[in-house]
Amino acid sequence: MSIALRKPLPRLLAVLVLFAAMLVTSVVTATEARADGCYSWSRTLSEGASGEDVRQLQIRVAGYPAYGGHIIPDGAFGPATKAAVQRFQAAYGLGQDGIAGSATFSKIYALQDDDCTPIHFTYAELDDGCGGSGWDGGPLSAAQTKANALQTMWQLEAMRHALGDRALNVTSGFRSIPCNNSVGGASNSQHLYGRAADLVGSHSLCTLAQRARYHGFGGIIGPGAAGHNDHTHLDIRTSNYWSAPNCGI
Ligand code: ZN
Repeated sequence: MSIALRKPLPRLLAVLVLFAAMLVTSVVTATEARADGCYSWSRTLSEGASGEDVRQLQIRVAGYPAYGGHIIPDGAFGPATKAAVQRFQAAYGLGQDGIAGSATFSKIYALQDDDCTPIHFTYAELDDGCGGSGWDGGPLSAAQTKANALQTMWQLEAMRHALGDRALNVTSGFRSIPCNNSVGGASNSQHLYGRAADLVGSHSLCTLAQRARYHGFGGIIGPGAAGHNDHTHLDIRTSNYWSAPNCGI
C-alpha cells in the first residue's frame, strides 16, 4: 500500500512543475513578443548617449518638447531629449530622472503596437487620404514618408494623453500628389510628406489647436484660417507656423 501511495506523488509533482514552467514560459514569451514585435532597447540611455536606440527613443518622446519646441530624432541624447524624457515620465507618473531605463521602456512597450505605432493610432489612419493605401506617390520615398507618419502619431499620442485620453480622429493624413491635387491641397502641403494630420475629435477644434503647441507641432492651422473651420490641421514641421485666429493663435 505504501508503495502504491508513494508512486503517484512524484508524477503529480512533475505535472505541477511542468505546469509552472509552461506558465512562466508563456508570460515571458508574451512580454518579449510585445517588445520584439517592434523594437527593444538593450541598455539604459541618458544624456551623452548616441545611436539608433537613442533615435528610436526620440521618436517616442517627440511629443514632449517644451511649448513651441521640437525634438529632432538625430540619435544624439542631449539636454532637450533629457527634458522630453522627463516630461514623458511625468505624464505617466514615473520618476522624473530623464534617464530612459526599464521603467521608461516598459511604459513605451505598453504604449506601442507590434508595428511601432502608438496604441491609439494606426498606419491605416494616416496613409493615403484619398482612400488608397500605401506611402508612395509623394515627393519623398515611401519609407521616409511612413517614418514621418510614425513620428506624427507619437506626437498625437502625447497630445491625446495630455487631453485626458479621449479620442482624436484623423480625417486626413498622408496624401499622394494626385490625392493632394484632388482635394485642393497646397502644392507644398505637409500632407505630401506624411508629416500632417487633420483632426476632429471629442475636443473643440480650438482645444486641439491650443494644446498642439505643447507637443512639437510646428504647423497648426485651425478655426479662422481659410479652409480650416471644420478641422484642425497639425504637422510636425520644425519651424512654427501657427494660425487659428478664432482660437487666439
Ligand atoms: Zn491638413
